[in-house]
Amino acid sequence: MKLQGWLGEHWRVLATRLQRNELPHAVLICGDAGLGKRSLANALASAALCEARQADGHACGICKSCQLLTAGSHPDHILVGFEARDDGKLRSEITVEQIRQLSQRLSLSTQYGGLQIVIIDPADKMNTSAANALLKTLEEPSASTVIVLVSDHPAHLSATIRSRCQRIELKVPERARAMEWLVEQGISIELAEQALESALGNPGEALGAISNEVLGLRGECARDLLELNTARTSALTVADAWAADRPAERLWHAAVIARDEALRLADGKPGKLGLTGAGEIPKLAAWFAAANRSRELLNTQLRSELVVLDLLHAWQMPRRP
Ligand SMILES: [Zn+2]
Repeated sequence: MKLQGWLGEHWRVLATRLQRNELPHAVLICGDAGLGKRSLANALASAALCEARQADGHACGICKSCQLLTAGSHPDHILVGFEARDDGKLRSEITVEQIRQLSQRLSLSTQYGGLQIVIIDPADKMNTSAANALLKTLEEPSASTVIVLVSDHPAHLSATIRSRCQRIELKVPERARAMEWLVEQGISIELAEQALESALGNPGEALGAISNEVLGLRGECARDLLELNTARTSALTVADAWAADRPAERLWHAAVIARDEALRLADGKPGKLGLTGAGEIPKLAAWFAAANRSRELLNTQLRSELVVLDLLHAWQMPRRP
């Protein structure tokens, strides 16, 4: 398991305590959304249950326990989160019944003779009676139980619960660490820098914003290409719009759209752009190359609307009757 780089320090402390059998009975992992709280909680749970931990303290990923955990069926791994109501909708709080069931399970001995790991997430959504019930469990700790509370809003937890937990507070990481991680996720340096700035340095939030933005822009480009196919718009209109707003990014999306369309058709799946059958694949491949060439032409003296218009004409060309 690869943790976000900025969690390294927290991880080393937890891994050492686990190694020495000195994990606290209750841990509160808190901090803003996007900083990796769940990654840290899951890494701790996996490591605590693993039968053959690696040198860095992480779970091996292959022992019997790790396999059960991956399959979601490890009997000593207990997740407490929002449950579905009778009408199938998800509740928005954690109820006292859930915490009572938890206490009952914890009163039985562990199935594998190791630790029992509980993750309560989001812990700040326990209602008052649930929180009171949990307090009883926290006051009577069992040596084989570790309860991990995960919370974006620790201030919403009662002071008595907080005082029973070892607190791990995740902070916005150093810029270099956040950048490194975003680039590892396949984001360009330029885009990562912009997104990180508007997310005030929060890497998870930056990645979320980039994903939304990328999907939104790609969706717009796909819609334009489909409308060109069905003659609901003109190449000139689309070229003007694309040239006026992030033309290089749009051409990159256009190339990716053509490639994905070709892959779908090659798989015998229906295309998303109204194209019919494998006969279109060579045209899509040619257009993928053309879109990438046009993107390079944007860096020359040529006017971008003409570069884009040329490419869009090539998109329409094979489809004229
Ligand atoms: Zn393992």
